[in-house]
Amino acid sequence: MLEVLHRIVQEVNAAPDLARALRIIVEQVKQSISADVCSVYLTDFEQRNHVLMATDGLRQQAVGKVTIPFHRGLVGLVCERAELLNVDDATTHPRYLRITETGETSYRGFLGVPIIQHRKVLGVLVARQKAPRRFDDDEVTFLFTLAAQLAGAITHAQATGDTLLNQYGSLDTPSRFLQGRPGASGVAIGSIVVAFRQADLDAVPDRTTEKPEEDIQEFHNAVAHVQDDLRKMKERLSHTLSVEDQALFDALLMMLSGDTLISHTVDRIKKGEWVQSALHYTIEEHTRVFDNMDDPYLRERGSDVRDLGRRILHYLQTDKPRVIEYPALTVLVGDDVSAVDLAEIPKEHLVGVISAKGSSSSHVAILARAMGVPAVMGVTDLPVSRVEGREVILDGYRGRVYIAPPPSVKEEYQRLAKEDQELSEELQSLLGEPSETTDGVKIPLYLNTGLVSEMSSLGTQEAQGVGLYRTEFPFMVRDRFPGEEVQVANYAKVLETFSPRPVILRTLDIGGDKPLPYFPIEEPNPFLGWRGIRISLDHPEIFLTQIRAMLRAAIGFNNLQIMLPMISSVSEVDELMILIQRAHDELIEEGFVVSMPRVGVMIEVPSAVYQVKELARRVDFLSVGTNDLTQYLLAVDRNNPFVAEIYDDLHPAVLRALVQVIDGAKEYGSPVSVCGEMAGNPLACVLLLGMGVDSLSMSAGSLLKVKWVIRSFSRSWAKQLLRNVLRMENPKEVRNFLTGALEDMGLGGLVRPGK
Ligand code: PEP
Ligand code: MG
Repeated sequence: MLEVLHRIVQEVNAAPDLARALRIIVEQVKQSISADVCSVYLTDFEQRNHVLMATDGLRQQAVGKVTIPFHRGLVGLVCERAELLNVDDATTHPRYLRITETGETSYRGFLGVPIIQHRKVLGVLVARQKAPRRFDDDEVTFLFTLAAQLAGAITHAQATGDTLLNQYGSLDTPSRFLQGRPGASGVAIGSIVVAFRQADLDAVPDRTTEKPEEDIQEFHNAVAHVQDDLRKMKERLSHTLSVEDQALFDALLMMLSGDTLISHTVDRIKKGEWVQSALHYTIEEHTRVFDNMDDPYLRERGSDVRDLGRRILHYLQTDKPRVIEYPALTVLVGDDVSAVDLAEIPKEHLVGVISAKGSSSSHVAILARAMGVPAVMGVTDLPVSRVEGREVILDGYRGRVYIAPPPSVKEEYQRLAKEDQELSEELQSLLGEPSETTDGVKIPLYLNTGLVSEMSSLGTQEAQGVGLYRTEFPFMVRDRFPGEEVQVANYAKVLETFSPRPVILRTLDIGGDKPLPYFPIEEPNPFLGWRGIRISLDHPEIFLTQIRAMLRAAIGFNNLQIMLPMISSVSEVDELMILIQRAHDELIEEGFVVSMPRVGVMIEVPSAVYQVKELARRVDFLSVGTNDLTQYLLAVDRNNPFVAEIYDDLHPAVLRALVQVIDGAKEYGSPVSVCGEMAGNPLACVLLLGMGVDSLSMSAGSLLKVKWVIRSFSRSWAKQLLRNVLRMENPKEVRNFLTGALEDMGLGGLVRPGK
C-alpha cells in the first residue's frame, strides 16, 4: 500500500491542474481499496454547500451539479466535526441523505475523510461500498494521507486561480490568498520572477579528474567571477544599505577569499575529485554545520553558503554572466530566497519579496525592511515552480499573497497601495519633530541596531541615541573571538556616529539559541541554558575584553552606557559590576583616560520581574526585553513557527508583568525603557505610554510610526486605555480594542494596509 500511496502522491504533485489531480485520486483510491465509488466534495463557503467535484463510480453528469447543503447528510457531518466517519451501513445512520441525481442506489459502506488545511475543512474524500463494509485501519490512513495531499493541491489551485474552481463561482473565494508571516510591512503589486536556481548542486554527478591543475584553475576563475558579482551588488546597494548591512556582502566575500570553503574544495580536487563534485561535497559539509544550529540568524548562514555554491557552479558550467530581463515591477519569489538573490535585482525594479521558507529574522527579511520593500516569509503552500511571470499581490502587514488576483482584489489593493504611499509621505513630515504627547510628555525614541542592522540615515538622524546595540554580529561573522582592538574599532564607529547622543552597548548575548560556530555549546534546552551573562560570568576573560574595548572606544565621546542581558538573579549583577569596575581600574592603571559608564540591566526573565526593585537599586537604568520576556512568560519558543500563533506580546500576563516592572522601577526613580519588538509596534506603544515608560527603542523602520502615535495621544488618555485593557482576559480582545483606539485617532493605517 505504501508504494501505491507514494506513486499516487507523485502523480498528484505532477498533475497540471486540479481537475486532473482529483481524477487521479478518485480513480486510484477506488481501485486500490476495491471500493465501488470514490468521490471528492469541495466546500463552497458562500453557497454553504458541498459540491461533488469528481467521482469514479457515480454518474459523471452529476459532477459540478450535485450539492449537499451544510449540516445535511453524512458528508455534511464529516465537515461539521472535521472528523472521519466510517460506518458499515450508512442507510441506518440518522444523518443519512439519499441523493438520486448521482445515480445512487443504496450504498451502505461509507468512509468519509475531511480534507483539512490550516484548521479549515476544504471538502471531503468519500469511499462507498454497495454491501455493508467497515473500512479497515490501513484503508482509513490511506485516505487520510491522500486527503492531506489533496488539501495542498486545492490550496495551490485556489491561490493560482485554477479554472476548475473558477467555473464554480465562489468555491475558491474564502482562502484565495496564501498565508505566510509578515517579513516587511507594506503592499506591492507586480510580476513574479522566480529566484534563479538553474545551477543545481545536487544534480552534479560524482566524477574523478585527470587534470587536477586545470580543475583548480577553473575553480579559481569561477570564484573570481562570483566575487566580482558580489562586489558589484554591494556597490549597487551602497546608497541604499547601511554600512552594517553591507557587511553581509563582506562576510560572503570573506568566505570566498582563502576560507575553508576554498581550501577544502581544492584539497578534494588534489585528491582526484572532479571540480564540480568537489564543490558540491564541500558546500554540503559546510551547510550541515549551519543547518544544525538553533539560532535562526546562523541557520541563515547555511543558505548563504548554499547560494554561494550555486553561483560558483553556475560559472563552472558556463562562463557567461546571467542576464535576466526584470519586469518594471518585479516581485522576487523563491523557495528559499537569499539576501544575494534580492541584491541581484536592480533596486528600481524590485517591489516585493516572497519566500516559502524563512521568517522575519531571515537575512532577506532584514534586508527587505532596510530597503523598504514589503516581504512575506514562510509561505509554506507557495507553488514556486508554477508561478513565473504571474501577477501577484503581497500584503506584508498580514503576511498574505494573492497569485493571479481577481480584478476586485486588485482594485482594492491598488487603492490601499496608493493610500500607503500617501501615508508614508505624511510620515515624512514628522522628520525632526519632537516625540511628545499632546499633554507635553517627552518620550525619546532610540534605535535598535547591531546584528545585521539598520544604521540607515533615517535611524541615525531620527533616533535620540541607541537604546540597544546587539554586539553579537561581529562575533558571529568571524571564525574566532574578535580581539580587543577589533572590538574597539567596531564600538567606536557607533559611539562616534551618535555622539553626543547616548549609545547603549549590550554585552554579548550568545549561547543557547545563538551559538558561535567556533564556540560550540551542546545542551538539551538551549533557551533555558548557558546564555548571555551566564557565559560572561563563566568566561570572565571574554567579558573583560569586551568591557575594556567598550570603555576604550568611548574615550573622547563619553556617550557610552552598558547593558547586561539575561539577568535572572541579583548576585549576577553584583559580580558583573565588580568585573566592570576591574576593567575600568586596569585601564586607568595602563594610562587610558576612561570613565565609568552608566550600567543597566535587561528585564527579560520572569524572575527579574519579581526582583525589579532589588535590581533597580543596583543599576542606573532598566530596559525591558519583551521578545524574551514574552517567550519565557508564555513558554513559547520565539523562533518556532509551529507555535508562532500563540507567541503574543499583547497577552494580558505580559502586560501585567510590564506594569509591575515599570511601577517597581519608578519606586527607585530608575529610568525604564522597552527595547523589544513591542516598543516599535504602534498598537503596543500606546499601552507602554500609559504604563509610564520613559523611553522606547526600536528598529529604524518603526521610528516615525511610533512617533506619530506618541504625538497623537495624551498620556492621560493612554492611561485610561491601559486601565480598560488590564481588565481584559485574552490577547485578541486587547488587539481588537487597541486597533479600534488607533482607528478612532485616524491612525489605523499604521497597522493595516491603506490609510
Ligand atoms: C528582547 O529579548 O526583547 C531583546 C531586545 O533582546 P534580543 O531580541 O536580542 O534577545
Ligand atoms: Mg533578549
